[in-house]
Amino acid sequence: MDCLFCKIIEGSIPSNKVFENENIVAFHDIQPAAPIHVLIIPKVHIASMNEVSPENMPIIAEIHQVAQKLAVDLGIAESGFRLINNCGRDGEQTVHHIHFHLLGGAKLGALTG
Ligand code: 5GP
Ligand code: ZN
Repeated sequence: MDCLFCKIIEGSIPSNKVFENENIVAFHDIQPAAPIHVLIIPKVHIASMNEVSPENMPIIAEIHQVAQKLAVDLGIAESGFRLINNCGRDGEQTVHHIHFHLLGGAKLGALTG
């Protein structure tokens, strides 16, 4: 499948990984939008939040557990962070393999529409 994040999971495209287990990979975003900007993705190819089903919902919960752990490991748990999923055209999703942005390390601006 021609999917950038599946290639990162396989290792055919390099990434700077900060976490990996049997279900999930997390790596630094190539174009950070904050001092800390990590992408957390499932190893299974799910295109977007629109494709999450009851069967794969546990992976979404596990991604949140990993985000909580990474926030501690990266030193941003106490100061705070954002966990963002962009979905579809209006959400400006550019990579169609579901991912959650973990952002922190500075006071982030207000969300705008
Ligand atoms: P989206 O806009 O789909 O929510 O987020 C996609 C993210 O993937 C963007 O923040 C972009 O910088 C990041 N990205 C795109 N290509 C690569 C890549 O090859 N490596 C890494 N580490 N991040 C990437
Ligand atoms: Zn994929």
